[in-house]
This record gives sequence, structure tokens and C-alpha cells, in this order.
Amino acid sequence: MTDGYGRKIEYLRMSVTDACNLKCIYCMPPDGMKECPCRQAMSADEFVEIARAAASLGMKKLRITGGEPLVRSDIVPLVRRLGEIPGIEDMSLTTNATLLAPIARELFEAGIHRINISLDTLDAGKYEKITRGGRLSDALDGIRAAFEAGMSPVKLNTVLIGGFNDDEIEALAALTLHCPVQLRFIELMPIGDTKGEFSAEAYLPDSTVLDRLPQLEPVPSEKHTVARLYRLPNAKGEIGLISPLSNHFCAECNRLRLTADGCLKPCLHSAEEIPVRGLHGQELNSAILTAVSHKPEKHVELSATERSEAKRSMYRIGG
Ligand code: SAM
Ligand code: SF4
Repeated sequence: MTDGYGRKIEYLRMSVTDACNLKCIYCMPPDGMKECPCRQAMSADEFVEIARAAASLGMKKLRITGGEPLVRSDIVPLVRRLGEIPGIEDMSLTTNATLLAPIARELFEAGIHRINISLDTLDAGKYEKITRGGRLSDALDGIRAAFEAGMSPVKLNTVLIGGFNDDEIEALAALTLHCPVQLRFIELMPIGDTKGEFSAEAYLPDSTVLDRLPQLEPVPSEKHTVARLYRLPNAKGEIGLISPLSNHFCAECNRLRLTADGCLKPCLHSAEEIPVRGLHGQELNSAILTAVSHKPEKHVELSATERSEAKRSMYRIGG
């Protein structure tokens, strides 16, 4: 499928639930989810039907996200079924990893060979604060389990927040020295019901990382990757910079997003949503093609004062 700007759309990000066992300050409002999300999330059969239709139209890559995908009790069989869809060449998972350790091997066997794990700090107290109650040791156990299960690459997503974790840039980057991990600093996005949580100083450009680590050497990036890659001298792993605010990557965008309640989002930061839940056959295919054709050339400018036009908080989109 090609959109109106000549971009090949081959990547579907599926949020399989809005529910989460954490409540990260930048993602979810303090009172958590406003309504019971479990009832609204689609069933495994519904996800598989939509993914099958998307694959028949040319989607090759699937990412499973949430909310926290691992809170779904059927996550392993769901992943297995999605991975068996003809045409899906690549499947990956985004998770906070706090529930990963006991099921990492099962997930690997079901088809999750690549994984992105959120990790914003190496300090247990700060982890508890940013996640509103999470335990750093659970996430670290999950990261270890991902490696032990054979997942590769393991990427760590760190939302860069001025006044919170900018004092840890060096320490987080140092994880890449001895560990073959890709540590990605992501600019904080002004999205959803999180408006009152951050002052303007929290929105740091990712050039902060380059200023703090002048020894970083650029590494060639794969096509369509949203991260610009660097390496510390002699490091086993890499550092990625993802900059939706200071240097958006819309020209390279090859994705659609599917929400847990069955809406396709042509763009992360636009309000437009195309409901596909309950559609079948030709109607479903047409809705997917409409979502592709409605992809805007680029998203609105984002900054401390210019917020995303998305109607949802991040936990209801999937990142
Ligand atoms: N629960 C999983 C996790 O935390 O990895 C998957 C869903 S989470 C919504 C996906 C990604 O979105 C995470 O890496 C998270 O850090 C990122 N994210 C959430 N809100 C964000 C924001 N306001 N700005 C930048 N990244 C954000
Ligand atoms: Fe949950 Fe992930 Fe959002 Fe944190 S970033 S609240 S772990 S969905």
C-alpha cells in the first residue's frame, strides 16, 4: 500500500489493550483509566482478522503494544496466531517488562524475537515515582529474561525528561558499553491528559544527549527506523535518538496504528480515527485502504506549548 505522498505503508502497530499495571506520568492521567478498558479491548479473533486483512493488503511488519500488552491473559496465544499470518515477516513487542520474566521464553517461542522495553531511570526511587508505583527490579528482571530467552535486538526506550532523568544520560548510555543493547532517548511528547504534569523545562531536545556525550560516533541507520544511531567508542551496544519534536521523521513514516477498541489512526498526532471493529471482508479492506490514503504529509508542530492533536493519551494509542 502506498499513501498519497509516495510512502510505502508496511508496518502496523497494534495496541492490544488500554490496561496497564503502571501509570507513567507522561502517559496516563493520575486517576488512571477513566473507564473499564478491558470490556472495550478487542478479542484475539478480532485482532487476528484485522491483521490478516492488513497483511493481505501488504502489511509486513507488526508491533504489539498497549497499554501494557502483557496484562492480557491470552497474550502468548494471540502473539502465536498473529505470527502465523501469511505475509507477516516481522513481529515485535513494546512492553514495560515488569511482567515479562515468567513468560519471556514462551513469547520467544510464539514469535517475539525483537523487543522494546521502557526504562526511564536506573534509580529505584525515581522509577517508582515516574511509573506511580512500579518496581525497577521487576523491569530489570524482565530485561535479563529477554536476553536469556534469546530476543535480539533488545532495545530500551528512555523518555528524556528535563529535571527528572537528564542527570542520568551518562549512566544510561554506559549500559551500552558492555551490553549489546540499543538505548533510545525519546523526546517527551505533549500528548493526551498529561498537560499539568510537566513544565517547559521537561521538554529537552535530544541534542542534549549529543552535548553531554561528544564522544558519540554516528552509525548508519536502517531505512524507516525513527532513531538516529550512535555508538560510544568500543561499545557493544548503540544509542538511538528519537526526536518527534525537534526533528520529526514523518517523511520516513511507514505505519498505521490500531487501537485496542478497533480504530485505525493514520497519524499518531492527528485526531482522525477510522473505526474498523465489526467490519469484515471488502468493507474491512476498504477501511484499511482509507486509513492509508488519509495519512497526512506530516504531523502538527509539537513543543512545550503546542500539543498533539490526538484525542487520546498514549496508553490508549500504544506509542
Ligand atoms: N506499556 C508499554 C511500554 O511502556 O513500553 C507499551 C505502551 S507505551 C504507551 C509505548 C511507549 O510510549 C513507551 O516506550 C513509552 O515510554 C512511550 N510514551 C508514552 N507516553 C509518552 C510521551 N508522552 N512522550 C514520549 N513517549 C511516550
Ligand atoms: Fe503503562 Fe507503558 Fe504507559 Fe507506562 S508508558 S503507563 S507502562 S502504557
